[in-house]
Amino acid sequence: MTDWIYLDNNATTEPLPEVIAAVAEALREHYANPSSVHRFGQGVRHRVECAREQVAALLGAQAKEIVFTSGGTESINLALRGLLSMHPERRHVVASAVEHSAVLRVMESLERHGYCVHRVGVDADGRLDEAEFNARLSDQTALISLIHANNETGVIFDVERLSRLAVACGAAVHVDAVQSAGKLPLDVSRWAAHCVSISAHKFHGPKGVGALYVRRRTRLEPLIVGGRQERELRAGTEPVADIIGMGVAADVVRTTMPEMAARVSALRDRLEAGVLRSVPGARVHGVAAPRLCNTSNVGFAGLAAEGILILLSEAGTCASSAAACSSGALEPSHVLKAMHVDPRSAHGAIRFSLSRFNTDAQIDRVVAELPRLVARLGRLNGERPTEEASP
Ligand code: PLP
Repeated sequence: MTDWIYLDNNATTEPLPEVIAAVAEALREHYANPSSVHRFGQGVRHRVECAREQVAALLGAQAKEIVFTSGGTESINLALRGLLSMHPERRHVVASAVEHSAVLRVMESLERHGYCVHRVGVDADGRLDEAEFNARLSDQTALISLIHANNETGVIFDVERLSRLAVACGAAVHVDAVQSAGKLPLDVSRWAAHCVSISAHKFHGPKGVGALYVRRRTRLEPLIVGGRQERELRAGTEPVADIIGMGVAADVVRTTMPEMAARVSALRDRLEAGVLRSVPGARVHGVAAPRLCNTSNVGFAGLAAEGILILLSEAGTCASSAAACSSGALEPSHVLKAMHVDPRSAHGAIRFSLSRFNTDAQIDRVVAELPRLVARLGRLNGERPTEEASP
């Protein structure tokens, strides 16, 4: 626990106390190699397999469809590169224009290797342009990748329906569920996706561990070869403690999701209402689309997001501009650009991402700070100050 008001949960989350306890116990007690034949090793194997069941339950998958990886980025790379072997003769790839950089960078790499990548646009609220999506699908499409819930805006794509459209053309389908796992009830058995990526540190688990759902009978080439771990899809001795921690996190977030979602969405609404009331010119990006319960992307027109973040941080609040990994870049985010957000609002866009650990009092403090801070930045910029709200 720290004194920060931590509103940067789409970047990473605070591990649950149960997770910390389970990881510490595993490091201390369950250090044998799960591939060893002795009983100590087999006990550890049993724990890894229990964690696999817990992670499978979070996704609505079967345990044998779960491959542990080092996190979201590795899962995405394994899926996107590994699924291309399903249709080696096809050279077209389709993704949305608002994917995470982990997907976008793979797409750029595929382009350098001769693939033709179609990036499908979104509307002003971040909803996928389905007419364009359909038009891009053909018998030449090798692979389709869609983000389930956007890390910057929280906007949710209907991947259950979209994945069905996508497989109809015979292509391999991957869904990036890194932000939705643990925040939305998932049932991948109803999706037509071949692979789904998730990452433990986004749902109060440890960093450095994630999973890829690989639908039964899917042909997937491994990225990392060596030992025979993870059904030969991901070689290397398993990070047992992290896997156990991921299993515990999956179990807790699955069983407490309805209460969490109700509480966190009320906090998010309180934040948005407070900010819109007290900061002139503020607007919420993606507000009319279905969104994650915890994410609010607010544009402060005419201000630079970096300045707001620095003052927020001085006031003890952690938030983010665009994706955490691209903070510091002065370019407005590719997601807001794809939504054709007014550049003045996009430059001043702050992502507040909440969690079960936030409180009403914290949100009220941020809402009280923001008008003062925005007015201060306006003065620093030499602009006419916006009205200062009373403390
Ligand atoms: N996909 C999305 C939507 C994300 O938000 C992130 C992380 O921010 C990733 C993938 C990458 O996950 P990881 O940090 O576990 O590599």
